[in-house]
Amino acid sequence: MLMMALTSASLQTAAQQTSQWVVEETRGSLKLYSEFSVDVPGIWKVLDRVTEELDSTVGLSGSDESVEVILFSSHAHYVNYLAATIPQAKNRRAIFFRNGGVSQIYAWRSRTLMTDLRHEMVHVRIHQQLQFCPLWLDEGLAEYFEEDEQQRRDSSRRDSVKWKARFGITPSIRTLEALPSADAMTADSYRDSWAWVSFLINDSRQSRNLLQQYLNLIYRGEAPGAFSQFAEAENPGLISRANSYFRKMSFVVTFDSSEQ
Ligand SMILES: [Zn+2]
Repeated sequence: MLMMALTSASLQTAAQQTSQWVVEETRGSLKLYSEFSVDVPGIWKVLDRVTEELDSTVGLSGSDESVEVILFSSHAHYVNYLAATIPQAKNRRAIFFRNGGVSQIYAWRSRTLMTDLRHEMVHVRIHQQLQFCPLWLDEGLAEYFEEDEQQRRDSSRRDSVKWKARFGITPSIRTLEALPSADAMTADSYRDSWAWVSFLINDSRQSRNLLQQYLNLIYRGEAPGAFSQFAEAENPGLISRANSYFRKMSFVVTFDSSEQ
């Protein structure tokens, strides 16, 4: 869940410790190291799908920069390997680490491994393309794309957001924008970030375009400021329509071309 961007080169590359890997596979700019046997084509497919969805949904394209996926057979191995360099990893199911032009995803064998890989891959693509990304948006996109469409529909967080919206409770985007660091994020912050990203992607063509525009400005090296202010300037009233979206929380793959 945690994203790290350190400049120190202190973390060894997986390639320097070849003996422990049962799987070592390369495909294009992606490298996979694993302590246990894994469904390699399945992992490539999952990572490709995330990249495709980010491109087609929010206009964030892929990259040829190196990505290393490093998988451990147990939580203990994962913690031990990262103890000296990323001690915070201990409390996370997986972690994303960016070192120069190389992005690394560390995770361990668990029932949620594929979801964790999808989540961290979203962070990889965001940080390959953007100089910065507001925390709520970074985590909201990762939470959104870690699930496929059916999982999104069936999720307990969808029910929770809908239920609150019926009582007029809308998660505050300004509260999310004020979060100082990942350490300050609670489970509710992740859920609310997910809800706001769901709104922007699915409410209307305009809301999705607005998110794309915002990401594109950052991509071009501009500083568009807080999203809530940007939205108010570009599309007044959009933010205040969120509650009616949260009451239904529908998910749309593409908007019909005839729709405004
Ligand atoms: Zn995350």
